[in-house]
Amino acid sequence: MTTIKASCPTCGEVELTPADVALMVCSHAPLSYYAFCCPTCSEEVRKPADDHVVSLLVSGGVPAQVWELPAEALEHRGGPAITYDDLLVTLALGPSAAWVADYHPCESVTECPDGSLVVRLRARDTAWVRRLVLRLGDAGRVIAPESVAQAVRDDAALALAAYAP
Ligand SMILES: [Zn+2]
Repeated sequence: MTTIKASCPTCGEVELTPADVALMVCSHAPLSYYAFCCPTCSEEVRKPADDHVVSLLVSGGVPAQVWELPAEALEHRGGPAITYDDLLVTLALGPSAAWVADYHPCESVTECPDGSLVVRLRARDTAWVRRLVLRLGDAGRVIAPESVAQAVRDDAALALAAYAP
């Protein structure tokens, strides 16, 4: 049986079998990722999968699943690829907003008992996060950083003001 070494943000290096790993290859290559449930802390871990990682996992026996990215999810991508230098944002997502975790590679995804998710993801700019959260309405909320949470509240106040008589 092939052993795959991966790393959990909490536990460090862990050993997995190909059956433990889900490889999600995206039509928009920079959004390809692999995911596994950490055998030590049972958190779901998601990591970006570049071409090299994809070929390593496939040669280790992990089947690649292909997913199509809806065009609207690309709306914020005008510049260079998102990197780890980008802003780390923590969002609380209600069950109806859980698709966000499927469309964007997340640093971590924690499922709460009520079906809502707490996700940490990288964002190039706060404007994109603000648009996303405003669009989610009650289903999405910024937990951190506070500067972005405040910016969303400001945007929401402005949007309400625009409807005022
Ligand atoms: Zn772990």
